This record gives sequence, C-alpha cells and structure tokens, in this order.
Amino acid sequence: MIDHEERAGRLWPVLLARAKERGTISYGTAAAEIGIHHRPLRYALGPIQDFCLGEGLPRLTSLVVSKGTGVQGAGYLGDPGNQADIEEVWNFDWSVIENPFSDMHMAELDRTAKEILEDPDRATSYVSVLSRGNGQRVFRRAVYDAYNGGCCVCGLTFMNALEAAHIMPWVQGRGSLRIDPRNGLLMCANHHRLFDSNWFTISDDYILEYSDLNEEFGPYSAADRSASIERHGSRIRLPDNERLWPDRSLLAARRVEK
Ligand SMILES: [Zn+2]
Repeated sequence: MIDHEERAGRLWPVLLARAKERGTISYGTAAAEIGIHHRPLRYALGPIQDFCLGEGLPRLTSLVVSKGTGVQGAGYLGDPGNQADIEEVWNFDWSVIENPFSDMHMAELDRTAKEILEDPDRATSYVSVLSRGNGQRVFRRAVYDAYNGGCCVCGLTFMNALEAAHIMPWVQGRGSLRIDPRNGLLMCANHHRLFDSNWFTISDDYILEYSDLNEEFGPYSAADRSASIERHGSRIRLPDNERLWPDRSLLAARRVEK
C-alpha cells in the first residue's frame, strides 16, 4: 500500500497539469508519464480517488479515460462518462491543495503513525488534527506495522492485498477509534470482506469463530473451507507489542453488533 501512494504522489502533478489544460489523459499516457505499465495504474489512482472522496474534492481521477472509449474504466467510483465530473475538476483551483502523497507529507504521516504505535493513547490527541483522508492513512500505516505486514487470519503478506480493518466503524464510537490501532486488524481483502459481513467474529481470547460450520450457506469449495471453516477455533496473529492488541471491549461490541 505504501508503494501505491508513492506512485500516487508522482501521478498527482500529472493530473493537475491536465486539469489546468482542461484536458483528459489516457491510461497508457498517464502510466507512461510516471514510468509504469498501464495495468498497475489503477493502484496509483486508488489512493487519489480515496483522498478526493474523503476530502469532498472533485474527482480528480475522472480525467483518466480509456483511449478507445473516452470513458473512465473499472475502479472509477464515479459515474463513468459523466462530463460534469470532469468539468468540476477543471473548474477547481487545485493550487490550494498540497500534493497529499508528496514525500514530505508521507514522512509526516509516517512519523504520526510511529508515535501512535509507541503510545496508542496518543490517538485521541492526533485525531482532531488529521483530516479524514489523512487519518485513514495514518491508521493503515500503524495497523500495517503493528501486524508486521501479514493478514491476522491467514498470514498473507502481499502488500497490495492487505487492508486495515476497523473493528468498530469509527462513526459509531468516539473519534479516536478512527485511527487507534487497537481498533484495527490487518487483513487480506478476502478476510476483511468476510469479517465486515460477519461471517466470523473474534473472541476475547482472540480466537476466530466462524459462523457457518455446518456449511448451511454452501456449497463450499476446498479453498472456501481453508479460508473459513478451517480457521475456526484458531488464534489470530497478534502484534508483537501487547499494548497494540485489539481492544477486547471493541471486539465484544462487534460481536453484539452482529
Ligand atoms: Zn487473510
């Protein structure tokens, strides 16, 4: 995920230049401008799109369109082909927004994440000064480091496939939950989806409890079973630092929520 943000940082000025010219850019050209293959470009677009949505900004990534169709491709969360999105980007004064993925800015967020890892109680004081988008990035970084970059359920370490899951969505609780690593679990995208849709919960002893042991919602493939039923009863992987272990009261609240 850090890699994506580094690419996003290089893509940001490319998109801003197009916005200024009131133009669009093809996936191929955008990728070439930052020196990558066009296929992984969407991973660089993702953080920019998330940032714009989180900050309530025009959808900067709407400028990236397919050469053939002139329309935004898969992964674009707006309305593909909607010219109004593009015009909103053109008409916005982007000079007031600092590149959110610049090295300097990233280093600052890294420092904040590190300080929160050293003392998670600091989350309370930091949360008020971080915008929603930056808070999300600090949270991701802190959780990623706390779990040594592995899914807490299956141990997968593909960086691109890892996500920082919130145990309790912060909207439901105090603001600091948004960035407190004790409200987080590092999960691969698959386990994150299964957790968010309550296929499994985690006990106070950090044991994974799977909900459909009798395969009532089957049929299950062998891969399904190994990702779910076969994990039932096993302890999740926890941060080395015990202070960063998931907050039991949050896990309990989450089980009730279900
Ligand atoms: Zn996993």
